[in-house]
Amino acid sequence: MAQYIPIQAKSILNRHRFIDDWTAGRTSINLYRGCEHACVYCDGRTEKYQIEGDFGLEIRVKGNAPQLLRKEFGRIKEPIIIMVGGGVGDLYQPAEKEFQLTRKILELILEFGLPCHILTKSSLILRDFELIKEINKRSQAIVSFSISSLNEDTCRIFEPKAGPPVERIEALRTFAKEGIPTGVWFMPLIPYICDDEKSIEQVVSACSEAGVDFILPALMTLKEGWQKDCFMKVLEAGFPDLVPIYHKIYRENKWGAPEIEYSAIVEERARNICHHYKIPTTARRKFPVGFEGRPILRIISCGKDFQPRELLINRRGTSADVYYSHPLPTIQGQGFSEG
Ligand code: SF4
Repeated sequence: MAQYIPIQAKSILNRHRFIDDWTAGRTSINLYRGCEHACVYCDGRTEKYQIEGDFGLEIRVKGNAPQLLRKEFGRIKEPIIIMVGGGVGDLYQPAEKEFQLTRKILELILEFGLPCHILTKSSLILRDFELIKEINKRSQAIVSFSISSLNEDTCRIFEPKAGPPVERIEALRTFAKEGIPTGVWFMPLIPYICDDEKSIEQVVSACSEAGVDFILPALMTLKEGWQKDCFMKVLEAGFPDLVPIYHKIYRENKWGAPEIEYSAIVEERARNICHHYKIPTTARRKFPVGFEGRPILRIISCGKDFQPRELLINRRGTSADVYYSHPLPTIQGQGFSEG
């Protein structure tokens, strides 16, 4: 049984230096520190987040978040996209039933007319269906779920307290039917457990059938320390044959990324399957133009290494972040065009 520990946050809006590749925003919100879903691979355990105590059982609750956020929203000078969720605790984990912080934050987002992207693993989000509908009408909301696999046994091992993945697909269907943009953060693709063609296709096909607008496939990172130790313990117990393979592919990478020889194959596999189902592997097009960045398309290099890239230029036009690097048929033969 999880223990809830109230804490007083100093600020709620995290403003990142660069536009995020996946969310197209640079502002995020975390309301809980620690997560009862206790996914074995969770990056929230990484030492840099400085989570104290048992990650899955001691949940720090930022009870003053709504009051703080009202003040912080009041100081916003230019439009921003708010990323609600991810990071160090699911915003619809069981604690939310009691504290309703996410609901209060969404009410503020609606009041201030801001676009938002909500990411969760929990169908508790359906509790706020009407509210999200209102935000979507006023300023745009995107609802995303993270899914690694549709295999119930795999999920029971690696996401022991999150709801079953089919429930997430059903929730996505409900939002999609209402015309709310939806996405799947198809991550982490756990090496040699859910990275094969059949497993990937099962997820992509279910997403396609549910009307999901985009899929963001990504591999699993394992950073040295608490995160990697926790994962390897479970791997050793359930999949001992894979231990030497993991030692080989996860070697001393600062970001915990698997070796390129492995990751290039799986990333391509996942992207190809998404493209086969005609599902974009970027969320950017679902965001309103004029928020955070002005999207443009530009060919960066041609010839043998032809690789169109999509950039986000900030509102002053002074800096750009590479955002999309897969071939975009619409720009073939053009040097420059509006996205
Ligand atoms: S739901 Fe997300 S934040 Fe919570 S444990 Fe799983 S991966 Fe981490």
